[in-house]
Amino acid sequence: MRDWLDDPENRKAYERFLQECREAEQMADRAQRSAGRGRRGTNSGSGRHTNHTKKRKQRRTSRPRRRGILSRIAGILALLAVLVIAALLIRSCADGLQGGGGEQAMNDGAAEEQTADTGDRWYGCPEIDVQLLTPNQYSRPQIALEQVNGIVVHYTANPGSSAQNNRDYFENLSKTGENSVSSHFVIGIDGEIIQCIPTSEVAYASNHRNSDTISIECCHPDESGVFTDSTYTSLVQLTAWLCRDHGIEASDVIRHYDVTGKNCPKYFVEHEDAWAQFREDVEERLEALRAGAL
Ligand SMILES: [Zn+2]
Repeated sequence: MRDWLDDPENRKAYERFLQECREAEQMADRAQRSAGRGRRGTNSGSGRHTNHTKKRKQRRTSRPRRRGILSRIAGILALLAVLVIAALLIRSCADGLQGGGGEQAMNDGAAEEQTADTGDRWYGCPEIDVQLLTPNQYSRPQIALEQVNGIVVHYTANPGSSAQNNRDYFENLSKTGENSVSSHFVIGIDGEIIQCIPTSEVAYASNHRNSDTISIECCHPDESGVFTDSTYTSLVQLTAWLCRDHGIEASDVIRHYDVTGKNCPKYFVEHEDAWAQFREDVEERLEALRAGAL
């Protein structure tokens, strides 16, 4: 067809033919409108023209419908494109917050969670250096601690020793077997906290209360047994957090002395007011933890 139309003569003839078609069509339309004779009006004229006019007529009538469908499809596609772009934008914004914003963004998120107190287990938990002991019968027998009814506070009775020294002593018992002793946590003079035993296991620290308590050993700088401010702060934070984590109260926090009458922790046994103050501080911190108000 295209080759045939390349000939100027043919093209002229073809254009004339189209012009005739258009005229015939206009005439038919006019006749239809004026006489109201419907499709019969388009049947006038030569057969060839009539057939062609019919086709064009059909095309004319179906064109608006097709155009309507096409515009509807275009609308849907445009809507989809907008939705995809919006989704990509939201995603890139979120990625920016997590990746580009770096740690600060994540920390901000954590802070928001904390003030809302969504029940996050680690809310208000002080930093803990977890150095679990090698399981052994002298310091980590791996006996299940099924219920936690209390927390027992101790002092190391070894002035100047560090949390690491005490943890390593417990660890070494697996080789020497010279004693059966351990503690879930040891708090050092600088306030550092080392965890030696999971809170789901028994530690050997509090005699007959080993079976239902968590034990905390505290280092101290001298013979008086008084704790440094750093040790004290960590002890309050850790104790309150453990209370919240195990659903117990500040009144469930006891001294080794309360179990056996042993002078441990020395300073708190010899200074009842200091012990009372400590429990108040734990209670205050515990209430803040539970209220999400740290
Ligand atoms: Zn003790």
